[in-house]
This record gives sequence, C-alpha cells and structure tokens, in this order.
Amino acid sequence: MDRNTNYLLIGGGVASASAAQWIRERDADGDILIVCGENHPPYDRPPLSKQFLTKDDYKTDDPYSKLDSFYPDNKIQLVTGVRATGIDRSARSVLLANGDTVRYEKLLLATGSKPRELHVPGSDLRGVFTLRRIEDSEAIRSWLKDAHKVAIIGAGFIGMEVASSALARGCEVTIFERGDYPWHLFASPSTGHFIRQAYESKGVKFALGEEVTEFEGMGELQSVKTGGGLSVAAGLAVVGIGVIPNTELAVNSGLEMGDWNGVKVNEYLQSSDPNIWAAGDIAYFNDLVTGKQWHLEHHLNARYQGRAAGAIMAGEVKPYDQVPYFYSDFLDLHMILRGEPGHWETKVLGDLDGGEYVEVYYDDNNRLRMGLTISHEEPKLDPISDKLNDLIRAKAKVDDLSAGTFGL
Ligand code: NAP
Repeated sequence: MDRNTNYLLIGGGVASASAAQWIRERDADGDILIVCGENHPPYDRPPLSKQFLTKDDYKTDDPYSKLDSFYPDNKIQLVTGVRATGIDRSARSVLLANGDTVRYEKLLLATGSKPRELHVPGSDLRGVFTLRRIEDSEAIRSWLKDAHKVAIIGAGFIGMEVASSALARGCEVTIFERGDYPWHLFASPSTGHFIRQAYESKGVKFALGEEVTEFEGMGELQSVKTGGGLSVAAGLAVVGIGVIPNTELAVNSGLEMGDWNGVKVNEYLQSSDPNIWAAGDIAYFNDLVTGKQWHLEHHLNARYQGRAAGAIMAGEVKPYDQVPYFYSDFLDLHMILRGEPGHWETKVLGDLDGGEYVEVYYDDNNRLRMGLTISHEEPKLDPISDKLNDLIRAKAKVDDLSAGTFGL
C-alpha cells in the first residue's frame, strides 16, 4: 500500500514520541506517522533496568511514555511491529518491511541503538542476556527469581543499575569490568571508588581489569571465566558493554555520517539531506554548548533532541543547545551528571564518603566542563542540576565554587 504523510518519524522510542508531540503543538493539521520496529508504542526505557526488574507488579504498560489516548487524541498514526527497510531520498519515500511505501515531506530518523554483543564461547547459553527492550527486561526479571548468583559484564550504566536490582532481589552479584573502576567512561576515580565501596558494602564482588573470555554451562549458564583465570559461578549473566547505533537506513541512503557511525547533523539536527533530521543516540550533532561534534546516549538526550527536531521540522528556527544531562538511580542513591564527560581535573565539594556531594570537572583554564552530583535524597539533586547547567553555560571558574555554591 502507498501512503503519504507530512511528517514521517522512524523509530519507536522517546525521540519520536517527543518529536510528534512538539510537531502537533506547532502544526495542528499536518499528518504525522511514527513507524515502530517493536510491537509497542514508544515507551520509556529507564525503568527497564530498575523498577521493572525489582517489582513483580510493574506491568508492561507502566514504562509507556504516553497514555494510549495520546496518539488518537493528537491524530498521530502509529505503525508497530514493522521496520523501515530503505529510504529513496530522491522520491522522498520510505519502504517498510510489510511492503508498504510511505511518501514524506519531512523525515526524522530516530532509530536508536542496539546492545553490543560479547562474542565469546557460551554467549548463546540460556541465562546470558543483554538489555534493551521490554521483552529483555521481562526475561531477566523471570530469571532473577531463580538465579541466586548473578554476573554483570560491564560496569557502565546498565551494569550498575541491573546489579542494584539483582541485589534488591537478594542475589549474590559479581561485576566484571575490564576498566579500573565502575563508571570509568564518564566519572573520576574518586567517584568510581565511592561507587565501588557502596556496592561492596552490600556484598557485591568486583572483578576489575578482567576480560570475560567464556560463559560455561551445558545449555544453561553455570559460570563465567576471565582471561585472568577467574571462574565464578553464575546462573544469570547480563552483558552491558555499550551499544551500536542503528544507522543502516542512513548509511544505505547515502547520508553523510560522522564518528561512531552516527548520522551527521548540524545544530538544527538536520542531516546532509535538508528533508531529513536525526535525533537521539544516532545523531552525531554539532553541540553548541560543548563546541564538539559528537553523539550522546541517554534517555534525556533522545527526549530533548526529539522535541527540538519536532519543533524545527514544524518550522521553528531554534538550534539545539541543551547542556548534556544524564541520571541514574541505584542502591539507595541518585546521580545526575551535567556537561561533557572527558579527562578533566576534578574537585569534590561536600561529603564524598557520605554520598552527598558535587564533583566538579574542569579544564586547563579552570573552567567548569562537567558536574556530577550524588545524594540519597533525589529532590536535592534538581536544584544542583539547574545550578550546574547555569555554571557550565557561563564557563564558571572552579576556583570560585564551593560546597555552599550548591547549598551543601
Ligand atoms: P556503557 O554505559 O557505555 O558502559 C559499558 C561498560 O562496559 C563500560 O564500562 C565499558 O568500558 C565496559 N566494557 C566494554 N566492553 C567490555 C568487556 N568486553 N568486558 C567488560 N567490560 C566491558 O553502556 P551500557 O551500560 O551497556 O549501556 C548501554 C546504553 O544504555 C548506553 O547508551 C547507556 O547510556 C544507556 N543506559 C543509560 C542509563 C542511564 O543513563 N541511567 C541506564 C541504562 C542504560 P570499556 O569499553 O572501557 O571496557
């Protein structure tokens, strides 16, 4: 079947849902169609490694980012369970896996990413998982009920959050990470050490500087082996070693690509084809705040870029200029990170050992580039996040900052 739409949004994540909302607020009548490869309307992924794993009564519907009525109320059409397979840019049309062709005026690519696989013997055993979709989380939750020993591969966002959820279920947890400390891709050794101790105090074991070389078992996982000679019993392993962007459509259509194989877009999130925009994980964008061309992998990046792209596609002329924003919840702690992760000097303001602090990350000119704040009390973090946002924009000198700056 052939159909026409003003706005075609490819990808069933938060970026498309946000874009649709912001288009509709600016264009009351334009046709909007979202194509979702998954069998669900767009949903929020952050609960999948947290509440979804710890609460049996947390239902499939709970992580939906919009109520079911949102789409009909806003005259947004959804196609679920169908992937887009090709873009014909000269005809301004997209081919879907069900054989349909959709002609568009404006196209948003928000196809997200997929988990990187650990290619070692035994990675196909039952009990070895990655986590991206609701179905992954459902399967992990069901295995968590019987698997008393859990292995986490990778101490990044997914790994540390799933480890926390497994602990909450009473499991014994071992975290394997080839870096020196948890969160080492974006946090300092001081914060890494604090996080490690927080988990160790709950009984978690770390195998740091270790590469997992094999999952052992007969059909089902029994243990995890490392290059350093460790063999650790485990009935469930969750691999969180990063993601790969879903950019096949963009590459095959000849769009200009950037590092990390992201879709190269300007500060208006517009690609090398003026009728195509990109948002979320796959957008390799010109970041006016950091002055870098890069990509960001986080729910809020997808949400904010989706909104911005939607507004721009509907005619607004406003560049995307959000200060990067990441958050995580784990154990009895909450974290917000603002700014640009990198190899900066750092200074801790507040109580590091007590888990109530702001760590400021700064460059050779003493200018604030990133702030990471941790607290047991979530409401304390929003004002600190707002303050960091303003100080990063103002390129504040870190020598002028104290715990009092953040109300600590
Ligand atoms: P991630 O945050 O990039 O962390 C991956 C970790 O695995 C890194 O520490 C990485 O360090 C390590 N690693 C890579 N290869 C490894 C190997 N062979 N053995 C052991 N460790 C290895 O990625 P993620 O945790 O998988 O998360 C996936 C995506 O979900 C990301 O885009 C993330 O932003 C998103 N997410 C975000 C949140 C949040 O923001 N709260 C929560 C869940 C998921 P090295 O590469 O240096 O070894």
